[in-house]
Amino acid sequence: MWRMGGQWACIMPDMPDTESQATPVSVDPNRLKITNDAATEGTLIGFRCNECETTVFGPAVFCQQCTSTDLEAVELGVKGTLFSYTIVRIPPAGWPGDVPYVLGQVELPQGPQVLAEIIGCEHDDLRIGMTVEMTLQAVPAENGGPDKAVYKWRPA
Ligand SMILES: [Zn+2]
Repeated sequence: MWRMGGQWACIMPDMPDTESQATPVSVDPNRLKITNDAATEGTLIGFRCNECETTVFGPAVFCQQCTSTDLEAVELGVKGTLFSYTIVRIPPAGWPGDVPYVLGQVELPQGPQVLAEIIGCEHDDLRIGMTVEMTLQAVPAENGGPDKAVYKWRPA
């Protein structure tokens, strides 16, 4: 059969590349649960201790406060307050984003803190105690698999 693939590629340069249409997957299923089909929304997740009510972000086998193993998986939501931040001018190797960037330490209402990039905020507008909300960004996977949905913070 006579193939015209090359010509079609020239005629229709805006054809979507179906290979890259796969839905992004959570960058870390132990910390981020995707909650919609397009992977644009999600919630942070962790564990709460049923003995002392200490809550942690991410996976846990036992409570760091009281060593109880009576832990319950909980959704931690998408909002928090800025506890501390730093402006990173020398990124780690392979950093895919802009430089400099803001790395924020955000305290969730349940107590645990979450470290992630803060986007959509001028450096001069950063304030300790400001309310921020989680937002997801699709980042290409290094191994060529589906994009990773990465959690970041932005002013709420
Ligand atoms: Zn505990």
